[in-house]
Amino acid sequence: MNAAPPLLAVEKLRKHYLSPKPWFGPAKPPIQAVDDVSFTVERGETLALVGESGCGKTTTAKSVVRLVEPTSGSVRLEGEELTTLSAEQMRQRRKDLQIVFQDPYASLDPRLPAGEIVAEPLRNFAGMTAAQRRERVQWLFARVGLRPESAAKFPHEFSGGQRQRLGIARALALNPKLIVCDEPVSALDVSVQAQVVNLLMDLQAELGIAYLFVAHDLAVVRHISHRVAVMYLGQMVEVADRDTLFATPRHPYTEILLSAVPVPNPRVRPVRMLLQGDPPSPANPPPGCRFHTRCPLAQAICREERPPLTPREAGAGTQWVACHFR
Ligand code: SF4
Repeated sequence: MNAAPPLLAVEKLRKHYLSPKPWFGPAKPPIQAVDDVSFTVERGETLALVGESGCGKTTTAKSVVRLVEPTSGSVRLEGEELTTLSAEQMRQRRKDLQIVFQDPYASLDPRLPAGEIVAEPLRNFAGMTAAQRRERVQWLFARVGLRPESAAKFPHEFSGGQRQRLGIARALALNPKLIVCDEPVSALDVSVQAQVVNLLMDLQAELGIAYLFVAHDLAVVRHISHRVAVMYLGQMVEVADRDTLFATPRHPYTEILLSAVPVPNPRVRPVRMLLQGDPPSPANPPPGCRFHTRCPLAQAICREERPPLTPREAGAGTQWVACHFR
């Protein structure tokens, strides 16, 4: 008997942006924003994508929902290839695959009242009567912690946290199986961040939604994720379940990133490690291991051979690491 395919399977994803042709001189190489990235997300799971800004995590997330068209590679939702769907077929598939943006204000139509914004996908897809739509919108408002009477307000009349709740209500409208969350709390105050993160977790427990959660705040990631994938300069360098990754990071880059996360126990003094230098340009990534120009453990082989992402036995499961020595 064939096992069910993962909810989301991304394989060898690439997104290269062509640089504009200069008036004089040779053409510039393409920017390799995402280069050969593979991962899966299971039903009801949260996979966090983390890394420094510019590492390709947002481009990866947007490629999954085809807000960015991948250069090559495969994105399958429940076994169905998404990269070859027509615009109309993709529009239909978006019922199962929604996105919540970092800046809810920019993603909400300022001319529409909140109730209309949340009802829009229902009007486009669900074939409901006006009364059924009203009822569903009221349920969604209540579910994300907004008062039903605020459906008449416009986006600018809400606070930042309320606007993000509105974005979540709109994403939930059609009962999606997967929501791509692109830095959904990084523009919010810390106290509001916790409320929105807890809301997302409650919704997952209740409705079984999976999240692909893009974030740079590792404290938030530690709270919300089941597994974590670490990206560096357009490539995946480590993937593991959350507890394994935070307790025993293997890749030197992950180790340095995690050393900056505050520890809740005041008796423990973490050793803070610092990343040396700036990340290289994705238009001209270093050969071999892309991290070798900043890695304290780099050796000759690192400058020549790219280490593949390979499985290592970990306590509870498998930890995938792209390093010649870890
Ligand atoms: Fe560092 Fe070499 Fe491992 Fe890359 S392969 S992370 S340069 S030790």
